[in-house]
Amino acid sequence: MDLYPESRRKGIVFWEHSVTDVSIFDTTLRDGEQSPGTSFSFDDKLRIAETLDEMGVDVIEAGFPINSDEEFEAVSEIAATSENTVCGLARVHEQDLDAALNADVDLVHTFVSSSDIQIEKSMDSSREEVLEMTADAVSHVKDHGVDCMFSPMDATRTDFEYLVDIVRTAEEAGADIVNIPDTVGVIRPTAMHRLISALREEVDVPYDVHTHDDFGLAAANALAGIEAGAVQCQVSVNGIGERAGNAALEEVVMSLESIYNVDTGIDTTEIYDLSKTVERLSGIPLPQNKPIVGDNAFSHESGIHAAGVIEDSSTFEPGIMGPEDVGHQRRLVMGKHTGTHSVRETLEEAGYEPDDDDVREITKRIKSMGGKGKTVSDADVFAIAESVMSSVPEAEKTVDLKEVNVSTGNERTPMASVRAEVQDEARGEADVGVGPVEAAMSAVSSLMGDQREVEITDFHIDAISGGSDAVANVYVGVESDGVEANASASSEDITVASVEATVDAVNHLVRKETREEEPTDSTTRQP
Ligand SMILES: [Zn+2]
Repeated sequence: MDLYPESRRKGIVFWEHSVTDVSIFDTTLRDGEQSPGTSFSFDDKLRIAETLDEMGVDVIEAGFPINSDEEFEAVSEIAATSENTVCGLARVHEQDLDAALNADVDLVHTFVSSSDIQIEKSMDSSREEVLEMTADAVSHVKDHGVDCMFSPMDATRTDFEYLVDIVRTAEEAGADIVNIPDTVGVIRPTAMHRLISALREEVDVPYDVHTHDDFGLAAANALAGIEAGAVQCQVSVNGIGERAGNAALEEVVMSLESIYNVDTGIDTTEIYDLSKTVERLSGIPLPQNKPIVGDNAFSHESGIHAAGVIEDSSTFEPGIMGPEDVGHQRRLVMGKHTGTHSVRETLEEAGYEPDDDDVREITKRIKSMGGKGKTVSDADVFAIAESVMSSVPEAEKTVDLKEVNVSTGNERTPMASVRAEVQDEARGEADVGVGPVEAAMSAVSSLMGDQREVEITDFHIDAISGGSDAVANVYVGVESDGVEANASASSEDITVASVEATVDAVNHLVRKETREEEPTDSTTRQP
């Protein structure tokens, strides 16, 4: 058996398939808007439709015109302004069909339940009546000279013989395309393939598939329908829709483009921006690990993966789809699993010139922060880099900090003690203050003892990232005998950052006096 026919791209062996052309039908504004809790305003709808139209999506299902006057207006406006096909939804009732026709859509999508459970319990009708309603509805649309798509709702839970009857009835009444909806998301890919293949043998009409993600199979089922010969599939941006949603536009389109090597005609570089727009307007946040558009879709943290991707992105990405194809970005994420490669890459890209010692120390601090469960942002990384790269080299330190302890509380005076080697002599100081930071900084300024009186002239704290575990960047200015120096330090502990910055500022101060020619301003190495 020839398992691997001639289909290789970028070193990947692909299974053969017969898909050459697929029409993408977007239902973000119809099924997507039926997401629990989602409602798009008139302007939201126009904005989403405009982007879908510009990207080249073949059919835009703009809404359900009978639903409300507002919805009718939105569908009419989208139908009037879009280049591509605009579709309006209608039940098989005449007033629904007329609302869609009056909205002047290019395609009327009419539907009726076909499964026994829905015919009996949702419609209180019979199989015979449903066939009649189908024929009447499709004929009504066709009599007005408008294209018609018919959907037997809940098709995947419908008896096959009856499904054939209803599809044939629609085709004989003039339906241009028949949609097979997996309304409650219960089919599996191979079953969808067989269902579409079997229907094609029985009734010769173009087929479309509408799939739901209740078991996470929506995109796979849509693609299985396409492989079986369906000419069109229904998708929504971010997969929003009833319950767990629909097949996601980004997943289906990028699979077709990248895995099937089929040109959908869609400008895929707009996908990420459109996804962000729909995320905001729908109020449904994307999980970080959402395929293609999630924050993590092209992110790497582990040392091995990040180092590989820096060398060649195909090492630990699909290779047939990159962030640039969908308007997204590749990110090297810093944390517990970070290696020196990504730290160097990230810093050099931002204009820093760290030496090997800097990179080692910065990586160590990032890993330690990540190991405490903290998300390490780019801003955190740069703050850590600033503080590591601006400190006085080990050999030239006058004060070498060894230990800081603070105790504080609502019932006691904040107190701090510090231990350090000052010119190779072990010293300790303790002091009190209005808060633990002030106590610690007073203790540090006393470390020089009688040799030098150090005064804190400037002090401010910035939280680099949000949250109670934010990294604080502390800036300290010191003065002694008319000489000034400053330094900054970053830590997730405000007291530690304050003490480190003060010690560093003192070291700069002493070095400034002894080596006048050296720049001491910690900001000189900023990018
Ligand atoms: Zn649906």
